[in-house]
Amino acid sequence: MLGGMQDFELRVPRLLDHAAREHWGREIVTRWADGSETRTTWAGIARDARKLAQALERLGVKKGDRVATLAMNHSRHLVAWYGAIGMGGVVHTINPRLFDDQLAFIGNHAEDRVLFYDKAFAPIVERMKPEWRTIQHYYCFDGDGRGSFEALLAQEDGNYAWVEGGERDPCMLCYTSGTTGNPKGVVYSHRSSVIHAITELQPAEFDLSTQSVVLPIVPMFHAVGWGLPFACAAVGAKFVFSAVNEPRILCELMNREKVTHSAGVPTVWFGMFQHMDATGDAPGHLKIVTIGGSAAPRAMIERIMKMGVRVNHAWGMTETSPIGTMGAPSADWDEMSFDSQVDQVSKQGKVPFGVELRVVDDEGNLQPRDGQSSGRLQVRGPWVIRQYFQDESGPCVDADNWFDTGDVAVLHPDGVMQITDRAKDVIKSGGEWISSVELENAAVGCAGVAEAAAIGVYHPRWDERPILLVVRKPDSQVSVEDIQAHLAQHVAKWWLPDEVHFVESLPHTATGKLLKTAIREQYKDFKLAAA
Ligand code: ADP
Repeated sequence: MLGGMQDFELRVPRLLDHAAREHWGREIVTRWADGSETRTTWAGIARDARKLAQALERLGVKKGDRVATLAMNHSRHLVAWYGAIGMGGVVHTINPRLFDDQLAFIGNHAEDRVLFYDKAFAPIVERMKPEWRTIQHYYCFDGDGRGSFEALLAQEDGNYAWVEGGERDPCMLCYTSGTTGNPKGVVYSHRSSVIHAITELQPAEFDLSTQSVVLPIVPMFHAVGWGLPFACAAVGAKFVFSAVNEPRILCELMNREKVTHSAGVPTVWFGMFQHMDATGDAPGHLKIVTIGGSAAPRAMIERIMKMGVRVNHAWGMTETSPIGTMGAPSADWDEMSFDSQVDQVSKQGKVPFGVELRVVDDEGNLQPRDGQSSGRLQVRGPWVIRQYFQDESGPCVDADNWFDTGDVAVLHPDGVMQITDRAKDVIKSGGEWISSVELENAAVGCAGVAEAAAIGVYHPRWDERPILLVVRKPDSQVSVEDIQAHLAQHVAKWWLPDEVHFVESLPHTATGKLLKTAIREQYKDFKLAAA
């Protein structure tokens, strides 16, 4: 057929070029670890990214080489992403909260060539240097003098054209913080990143525009900072970064910079609530808060919605770029009671165009979308993984591209997905399943409970029975009886935990989620008093 459209490779540097051209003056604010603040713009980020691309070429970095970062959120980290990607490199974000053997493994497995790091993580770098075999150059983002990021940029003039290539070239690499076995690397392409970024702009997703002022609490090393560094460039949103995730600092920044959008795991909001209760402070300009990474408890959603703020409940994984579903307002939202709205957002929501979901039983049979039949959640789409980095065993999807998430879920008739548990966290009592997530979320709705973890422990008759570990809020006297009475209003009687224990704290993964494997390990020989 004669005629057609232009070929336009969907490459990440185009996002930055667009932001620098159309939204050049929109600010990128950083509050650094030492308390100082700097302000730059999308034009400034683009200028510095070109300088960094030049510098990396001068260091001998080649197309496809991995450039690693070990850093919190700030403008220089953003420059590093765009600069390294712009010269054809692949940015590998390292999670500083990993254990040393995991850090050693991923640095070597990724074959990183250069590492940019925060001064706060210098001790990690010193410790790991002898282990990392391929890293030749180290630069400190917030250091002084030679060996600092600024000194590296200062040598360049920024007169640089991005490396061209195909849209299916890799641009990012992120390892899943697997709690058992070695971490696995997820490779993102330019194309998957750009399509994902554009999807995130939609009203039913992050709802972003140039008017948005975005403070991502989610670190850039957690699943590509949930895609925000790319999505915000597409509309020239203003960024407010904090290199320190302290509720007092976040709250102050949110108010001063009039932050409209924020995103983070539930733990972050627990911390924010404690700060609000203790000081009477509250973020005043927020419009949308996105919570994901683990299930957002109903009580948390309710509290934020009562502040007049929309809650987006996001489900996703490192393997899904990460947006899989979003619990955003439905078509009949305005006719719903407040309680039904909260119920709605408590589920994980619907897929955007591009993602497909299905639920299958253990034999692989498709389950109906009836809101009851639970099973393994599978996903596919153009920003969903096909094969892990350097994984000789081949694709991690079936012949039709379905990727098994390891989550247990139900699909409702209206397309809303609800996670009931992670397959390995489900508590199996007498052949029936008890959702640890639901127990935990019901528990944190009880006054005086700061955090809770439900695990299954051995029971001679039922195989497993749930116990609940509870961290009390400071000064709270909440009792086992109070908690059981509260739970009884929210879950079936046979789900009630056989025992409730108070603990000082609970272990978390590197991305701030409950570390269930460690808790189970601790209780593996536990004997129930009544068993
Ligand atoms: P990891 O937790 O292993 O470091 P990810 O950050 O990729 O890796 O986590 C993905 C997992 O987090 C999902 O498979 C799911 O179990 C859980 N998760 C993410 N978002 C939600 C949510 N909104 N509700 C419940 N579980 C969630």
